[in-house]
Amino acid sequence: MNAEIIAVGSELLLGQIANTNAQFLSKQLAELGINVYFHTVVGDNSNRLEEAIKISQSRSDLIIFTGGLGPTKDDLTKETIAKVLGKKLTFDEDALRSIEDYFKKTNRHMTENNKKQALVLEGSKILPNDHGMAPGMGLEVDKKTYMLFPGPPKELNPMFLSYGSPFLLNSLGAVERIESRVLRFFGIGESQLETEIEDLIDNQSNPTIAPLASDGEVTIRLTAKHSSLDTANKLLDETEEQILKRVGTFFYGYNSTSLVNELMNQLKDKKYTIASAESLTGGLFAEELTNLAGSSSVVKGGVVCYTNEVKEHVLHVKKETLDTDGAVSHSTAEELAENVKSLLNSDIGISFTGVAGPGESEGKPVGTVYIGISILDQPTKVYSLKLAGSRQGIRTRTVKYGFYYLLQLLNA
Ligand code: ATP
Repeated sequence: MNAEIIAVGSELLLGQIANTNAQFLSKQLAELGINVYFHTVVGDNSNRLEEAIKISQSRSDLIIFTGGLGPTKDDLTKETIAKVLGKKLTFDEDALRSIEDYFKKTNRHMTENNKKQALVLEGSKILPNDHGMAPGMGLEVDKKTYMLFPGPPKELNPMFLSYGSPFLLNSLGAVERIESRVLRFFGIGESQLETEIEDLIDNQSNPTIAPLASDGEVTIRLTAKHSSLDTANKLLDETEEQILKRVGTFFYGYNSTSLVNELMNQLKDKKYTIASAESLTGGLFAEELTNLAGSSSVVKGGVVCYTNEVKEHVLHVKKETLDTDGAVSHSTAEELAENVKSLLNSDIGISFTGVAGPGESEGKPVGTVYIGISILDQPTKVYSLKLAGSRQGIRTRTVKYGFYYLLQLLNA
């Protein structure tokens, strides 16, 4: 099933708003294993919308419309679709009642044109609007599926999740089930990962294998189709096993998890407490960990040790270390991790020191990073990195590496 999304609204063409509905729907459709081949944007103009519908009919099986379901004259999506499909618009009693209720509840006066929102394409399945007035619709005509959603994302998003997705699964589901799984990787670039599994990607059919890079991470989405859910899952298991045999060392979790979530779970499981000494990252590591609910049982605290004075007088890094090796060094990272652990009486101490830029520091180039990790009485590990990118990019990626290395050590 190949899909096209037609967003209706002159404000989109004028650049007043971004087409986030198409982005949201594309993401959802990808999860259902439906290929989206076209995004179309058209203004509030019936002739041009008619043209866009006819083009989409020539190349897509599923056509999804957003916007233009409101009560005003320039809301003409369903009227135009009705004309092209040769369908009547009829009043949907439930939709009319819920519009009347909505006005009563909000103590507002209902005008005649509000009733227009209860007009639906004859023969369509109504997708109720739990957050507004205009109902959505789904219908099949001549082996093509049409779906209509209101423009406001706060109405469209829950409507798609509660009613649109089940409607689609129902029309697809009679034939096959679609199961999808996301594998998450860190510490490997997209091109290296693709090279490692190139033959698997080239020979993919069922499941499909789709790598994607973002925020310094790479994900692989596997999507399997089969009439039996068990078989679809078995297909996913087999492909996952083949992939992890090659790049499993960089794998850290499934679906929508994140490095920081995985780390927090591990720390909680092992009942470890942690303290951080942050120079380069200025508290970002602690900020991300304490963003998570329940972090108080894990995070002891942290020191933002930006100056050498604080490194020496608060965290007791030896003056000799700072004078000879510098603040951005293996030995400073090591001492910071060990000392913050004992100072804050935690099981783990982690430290971040480096050069975020824009200029070099102590003769060390931008992107030089040291991360120290001290766990209980195990020997302290220090990782050195050479990162590229902006000041902020280097800092946020350093924190992710901190999560990743710590996870690796905890899983070892
Ligand atoms: P309403 O009943 O609110 O008029 P509608 O279905 O007629 O809904 P539009 O009038 O086209 O929708 O758009 C209403 C609002 O929804 C827009 O002002 C905009 O804020 C948002 N919106 C519309 N289309 C999109 C889109 N493609 N992406 C993101 N937001 C959108």
